[in-house]
Amino acid sequence: LPLSRWSEDGERDKLLGGLLAAGLDETSCVSRYDYDRVINRKGLSAKPSSYLISRLRKYEALHRECGPYTESYNTTVKDLSSGIGSQSNSGGCKYLVWISYSGLGNRILSIASAFLYALLTNRVLLLDDDMTHLFCDPFPHSSWFLPPHFPLRSQFHHFNQKSAHSYGKMLKDKPLTTSHFPSFLYLHLAHDYDHQDKLFFCDEHQPFLHQVPWLLLRTDNYFVPSLFLMPSFQHQLNDLFPNTETVFHFLARYLFHPTNRVWGLVLRYYQAYLANVNQRVGVQIRVFDTGTGPFQHVLDQILACVFKENILPDVDRKQATNTSSGKPKSKALLITSLSSGYFEKLRDMYWEFPTTTAEVVGVFQPSHEGYQQTEKQMHNQKALAEMYLLSLTDVLVTSAWSTFGYVAQGMGGLKPWILYKPENKTAPDPPCQRAMSMEPCFHAPPFYDCKAKKGIDTGKIVPHVRHCEDMSWGLKLV
Ligand code: GDP
Repeated sequence: LPLSRWSEDGERDKLLGGLLAAGLDETSCVSRYDYDRVINRKGLSAKPSSYLISRLRKYEALHRECGPYTESYNTTVKDLSSGIGSQSNSGGCKYLVWISYSGLGNRILSIASAFLYALLTNRVLLLDDDMTHLFCDPFPHSSWFLPPHFPLRSQFHHFNQKSAHSYGKMLKDKPLTTSHFPSFLYLHLAHDYDHQDKLFFCDEHQPFLHQVPWLLLRTDNYFVPSLFLMPSFQHQLNDLFPNTETVFHFLARYLFHPTNRVWGLVLRYYQAYLANVNQRVGVQIRVFDTGTGPFQHVLDQILACVFKENILPDVDRKQATNTSSGKPKSKALLITSLSSGYFEKLRDMYWEFPTTTAEVVGVFQPSHEGYQQTEKQMHNQKALAEMYLLSLTDVLVTSAWSTFGYVAQGMGGLKPWILYKPENKTAPDPPCQRAMSMEPCFHAPPFYDCKAKKGIDTGKIVPHVRHCEDMSWGLKLV
């Protein structure tokens, strides 16, 4: 992929070459246009296909026709209480309800995956509404949040693999008949899903699912790579995304527009600390070890990576002053982490010693929340703001296994340097690797050949779906 930025002039440019819909109110959601215009003027990483643009416009029309409180919505909701999806509904609106689950990075990746599945199967995507403080509505004249009185809402937290309405459970219990379609089904595609749940990814199960008006989905994964392995979607996907490494980039830039509150956090921070430097470097630190950091091996690994790959200048520990005259080149190092320890060490290092290149490095970290607090609004708003700030850097270093980092890289159209996951509290050697693509990794893909009904290495079937750099069993698009 050429990482040169693509843009056109005028109104189309503002709408990212037609990726974004026209007709949305600008003031209620300034991030939609500010992300490029005010902040980085980067534009998209590549040009979206005209087929993608036309399918998005078609989707918006469908969402408008079937969205919350429309006649079609009200009728299909009524059918829910009857329990059986009547055949007569086959021409009506069909829905995919995304149920909140897991951390914010996981949520964003799973919403993007759910949207792509909805797009491919002509369903309307509706989100559990605890995301309203984070994101604006992406579709004009309609909401993507599920109305609060949705009849099954109170059951959401009870749905699991073993529920009577779980598709995997139904497959275990008895063969499905095509004479009776339920009015709704629960799809369990979370990391702990089993063989029957995973049959979702087999083409022969899709016609049955297609008849069910309401699909309720719980997942914490970016399952897009496995959609690319399903023959029934291949044709559409090729036309939608001729360049497979831009899937999440386009979906994310289309779907996710932070609310004005979150955008204020991004904008003020960017303008105060990041705007006026020669280069911005982001380092996302996510430590999955137990115990409180900072850990020396993590700091050693970060330094080894940024020095080895010439991302940041080393310091001269013998020299007291910079010898160069004139205005030095400046770098801003943006760190995100739950703890402040790494930031303090790096900031002190660049204060106490001059760099070997005579550049100056300012070190910044917006928050240090201590631990994950998904139930708190402001905590999530800060986390989202930090993902966006990372996406606005020029060079990005991320931590292995972290969906927080995947969102930043995909949003920003950046191929990050990935810090390998440390084992036994030692810094790995080499410390990091450049990502093959900006796509997120699917952490829990199925390894099943639906036709042959046996195990298969799904990372070796097609050249554009491979195993991830940071997780040997994961799958990613390249
Ligand atoms: P993952 O666990 O790294 O895949 O990312 P998730 O976003 O799914 O879950 C981690 C959660 O922990 C985030 O959503 C935040 O709530 C919190 N978190 C982790 N790292 C940071 C950070 O650097 N900054 C902030 N503000 N929150 C963080």
